[in-house]
Amino acid sequence: MDKVQIKDKSFRKHILFDAIHEKVLKVAGRINEDYKKKNPVFVVVLNGAFMFASDLLKKVNVDCEIAFVKVASYEGTKSTGSVKSLIGLNHNINNREVVIIEDIVDTGETIVALLDQLNRQSPSQIKIATLLFKPKAYTKDAPIDYVAMEVGNEFLVGYGLDYDGFGRNLEDIYIVD
Ligand code: 5GP
Ligand code: MG
Repeated sequence: MDKVQIKDKSFRKHILFDAIHEKVLKVAGRINEDYKKKNPVFVVVLNGAFMFASDLLKKVNVDCEIAFVKVASYEGTKSTGSVKSLIGLNHNINNREVVIIEDIVDTGETIVALLDQLNRQSPSQIKIATLLFKPKAYTKDAPIDYVAMEVGNEFLVGYGLDYDGFGRNLEDIYIVD
């Protein structure tokens, strides 16, 4: 399946699962090193990060907790600039070391809004792990600590990322044609 059609858009295969997995293992290795003897709370950002988080956290071997939040900022293929919290954090992160797990950091609006939200609960530290990072689109100063892969500004689907709700189940990452 080198091409997929989702609604009005055609996508072609861009990053194969094996290549993704290799990069995910590298991030897991860095986290295992950095959080040795620590007890971080991973905050997974739904929906897009579910597949990345699942593969990543299976390879994380530190004692940790996993919590979930749900936010939405995209409509179709454009960032709307306003970030809605759809499911808040149901976990005490006061004084804890937190690692946010995101699918993709684009303009950075979502991650910065989420950082503001989580910082209100006074964690001792927050770091960010993202599957994909679009450095040319990023407009913020917050450091993105763990990046599995840097990508261009094109719209991507698969491996958790959707186009209008579809395509999240694709094992590989596809790029819009
Ligand atoms: P930001 O707020 O950084 O502009 O956008 C972040 C969110 O927009 C991501 O969490 C993701 O949900 C969505 N997003 C950004 N770029 C893409 C993309 O190329 N494909 C998909 N499917 N979603 C994207
Ligand atoms: Mg997301």
